Amino acid sequence: CRFLVGRIEKRSSETSAWQHVGRAFHFDDDWSTLRFVDQVPAVGCLVPPEFRSSQNVSSLTLNQPWPMPLRWQQQRYHKNNAFVAEKVDIPANAPAQRWEMPTTLTDQESFAFQLILSSTTGDIFLATPRYTVKPHFAELTCLDQATAIRCNGQPVKGSNIVLQPGTNHLEVEVPAGQKLRFEIGSHRFELDDTWEQKGDAHHKTLFLDQTVLWPNWKAQALHLCPDQGQQLLFWPNGLPEGDLANGYKLFLEVPDGCELRGASGYYKRQKVELKEIGLIDGYRHYELLFPGVKKYTEATLGQLHRWCAVLLMPTTRWNGNGELRFHAATPDLKAQEIPQCVPLVAMPPVNGRQPKKILFQLWTGWLRTMDDISLRDQIYASYIPAGITEAGAPAIAGLTAFNIINLENWNLDLKNWLARGEDYRQLQMNGKRHSYYPCSGRLLYTPEGRETLVQAAKVWQEKRQVDHCNLDFEGSVWGWCLGCFCPLCLKQFADAHQLKASPTPEQLKNNYEKEWTAWMNKKMADLAVLLQEGVKRARPDVVFSVYSAYQSEEFKRRYGIDWELLRGKIDLGMCGYGYDAKLLQATKQALAPTPMVSGIIIQPYQSKFATYPSFWSQAEILKHLLVGRVGLLLYEYHSMDGRSFYNLGEITRLAADYEELILKGERVEAEFPLLKGPKGDNYQALRHAGQTMLMLMNRSRQPTAYQLDATAPALAGKSLRDYYTGQTGVMAGNIASGGIRVLLLE
Ligand SMILES: [Zn+2]
Repeated sequence: CRFLVGRIEKRSSETSAWQHVGRAFHFDDDWSTLRFVDQVPAVGCLVPPEFRSSQNVSSLTLNQPWPMPLRWQQQRYHKNNAFVAEKVDIPANAPAQRWEMPTTLTDQESFAFQLILSSTTGDIFLATPRYTVKPHFAELTCLDQATAIRCNGQPVKGSNIVLQPGTNHLEVEVPAGQKLRFEIGSHRFELDDTWEQKGDAHHKTLFLDQTVLWPNWKAQALHLCPDQGQQLLFWPNGLPEGDLANGYKLFLEVPDGCELRGASGYYKRQKVELKEIGLIDGYRHYELLFPGVKKYTEATLGQLHRWCAVLLMPTTRWNGNGELRFHAATPDLKAQEIPQCVPLVAMPPVNGRQPKKILFQLWTGWLRTMDDISLRDQIYASYIPAGITEAGAPAIAGLTAFNIINLENWNLDLKNWLARGEDYRQLQMNGKRHSYYPCSGRLLYTPEGRETLVQAAKVWQEKRQVDHCNLDFEGSVWGWCLGCFCPLCLKQFADAHQLKASPTPEQLKNNYEKEWTAWMNKKMADLAVLLQEGVKRARPDVVFSVYSAYQSEEFKRRYGIDWELLRGKIDLGMCGYGYDAKLLQATKQALAPTPMVSGIIIQPYQSKFATYPSFWSQAEILKHLLVGRVGLLLYEYHSMDGRSFYNLGEITRLAADYEELILKGERVEAEFPLLKGPKGDNYQALRHAGQTMLMLMNRSRQPTAYQLDATAPALAGKSLRDYYTGQTGVMAGNIASGGIRVLLLE
C-alpha cells in the first residue's frame, strides 16, 4: 500500500507532509510504501545542508534512544555519474541527541541529493526524495590582472574567487604599484594599505555572512514607514580572526533620508559607541564600536543580554529606495566582512490613534533593561503614533506601564519567608525541594502566609510603580510554581476531600486527577486574588489582569487555569494567540462580566529561529479586537516592522473614532445579509446610539469579493460609506488579502 498524509494550516504558513516529498503532496512520485512494524526511531528534526561553498552540515535529531544501530546516509549523484555517499553510524541505545553530518562542496554544478535513515541491515525508516540541488556560491571577482591569487591556501584559476561562509584568507601577488580591484555584488574594494604584506604576497581576511541580524529581515525585506523608528538587533560576537585588542566594529549604511538614532546594549553588559561617518554615494555611513569585545564568541543566540539594539529612523526625506548594509571589521580593517544587504520597502505613514479606553498592549521583552535610557524612551515613543496604549514598564508619558508579577525569585521578593525553614519551600513531585518556589499550601492557606504574600505584592508595586499588573500563569497542576507535594499540602487536600489519609503523588495522579486539578485551579485563583490585594493596597487603581490559556478541560490541567474561578475577582483576563471561536467564546463566557482581551503573535518570537518574520494583517488585528472588544495583547515588539505598525495604526484609529460603538455595540449582521463575502466572525456588524458599522475581514491569501443583499429592509433608504476611503455606494466590492472593509450606515 502506498501512502501519504499531509496538512495545510494557512494561518501559520504550514504545509507539511508525513513523508518528504519532491514536488508537492498531490503528486504520487514520492509516496511511500506503508510497512507495519512494532516501533520506529523517533526522528525529531531533519535539516538538510545549505548547499553553499565548502563545509555544509545536515543534522538529524533523535528524540529517544533506539535499541539497534542506525545508519544515517547522504548520497550525491553528480552529472558525470560520480556518486558520493557519506554516513554516520549511530550506535545502539545512543542517547537522544542531534547528529551532524558534514558535506563539502567544491563546485557549483547541480546534483541530486538524498538523505536516508536505515538500520545497518538496510531496513529503511526514512528517505527523502532525490532533490535536485544547485549549490549557491558567493563569488568575488578580481577586476584586474594579478600574478597569483590564492584563497584559503588554494590557487585560484581565472578571476572568480569562491568564498565560503565564515572566514576566508585571500592572498594576492601583483607587480609593485599595480592596482587590483575586487567586486562582489554591488560592493567593491581594492588592494590597499589594510592588506598585510608578507614577502611578495598581500594578505587579507574576509568574512562572509558573519554578522547576525535578528530577526532575519535579510531573508526578504524590511518594511519601513516614514518617521516610524525600526529596531535592528545585532549579535556583537566579535570576529573569529584578527586583532580585537581594541574591540571590533560594525559598519552600517542606510539610504540618504534614513538615520540611525542610537545604539545600546542591555543589562550594562555591552558597551557600544555609535559614530556617523558621513554621506557617501547616497548612503549615510555609520560606525558602531564595541570596545569591550576583545575576543570572538561562537554565536550564542539564546544569550539575550549580548544583543545590541540600533534604532533606524526613515525620515520623510527618504525616497523609499535602497537597502540596509552592514559589515563587521577589526578596528585596523585588516579583517573585514563582505557587506550584507537587506532590501528596504517603503510603506505609507503610520496613522494610528490611541483610544481612551480600549487598550493596545505591546510586549517589549527586555527593552526596559536597555542601557541607553534616551534610546529606550525614543523606542517607547515610537509606539504612540501606531495607537499602542501600553508597554512594558517603565514606559513614558502617553503610555501606560505594565509589568508581569510571578513567583520567580527575581520578581516577587519572598526571601525572608523562604528563609524560615525548608518546610517553606515547595516539595516537588520528584521529592526534592525547589530552590525558591514556596510551599503553596503554607503561603496561601495560613494567615501568616497570606499576609506575607499580600505584603510582598504591595512592596512589588511600590518598587515598580506600574499602572497595569499582569499575572502570567501557564503552569501544569503537577508542577511549576504551585504544585507542592509536601505533607502539609497533601493533608490540606485530604481534609478538603474528606480522605482518611493523605494521598501520595502517584495516588493523586491515578485516582484523584480531577479533584487535584480543581484544587490546583483554586490555588491559582487564590494566588491571583492575594497578589491583586497586595498591589492595590499600594495603589488602588492599578489594573490587575491574568494572562493564561483558554477555558477548556485540557487547559485546566495543562496550564492550571479555570477562568470561572476568576470571574468578578480580577479586572481583566487575557489569553492568546490563535483564533478558535469556540475556545474564545468559552473563555469570554467563563469570565463574564469580567472583560477579556485576546492576543496576537508574530513569528518568530524566539531568537533561535531564523525564519523571516510574519506580520499582523488588518483582518487579524480587527478580528481579535472584536473578541473581547476592550483591547488587544500584541506579542511582541522585536519582530515588528512597518507592516505591523502600519496595520495597527489603521485599526487603532478606527477604535479611537468608534470607541463607544466597539465597546457597547450590539451584533446586528443578521440584518445585513451578504450574498457573498466573508463567513462567520469574519463579518460582523455593530450598532450603538444610532450608529451602525459593518466590518468585513479577509484572512485568506487571496483577495475576496463581497456583496450585500440590497433588498435587506435595514438598508432601505440608507447608503454605505467606506470608513477608510470615504467612498459611498459600496454595496459590493473587493477585500484585499489580509485586509478589511469598514462600512458605515448613513
Ligand atoms: Zn507544600
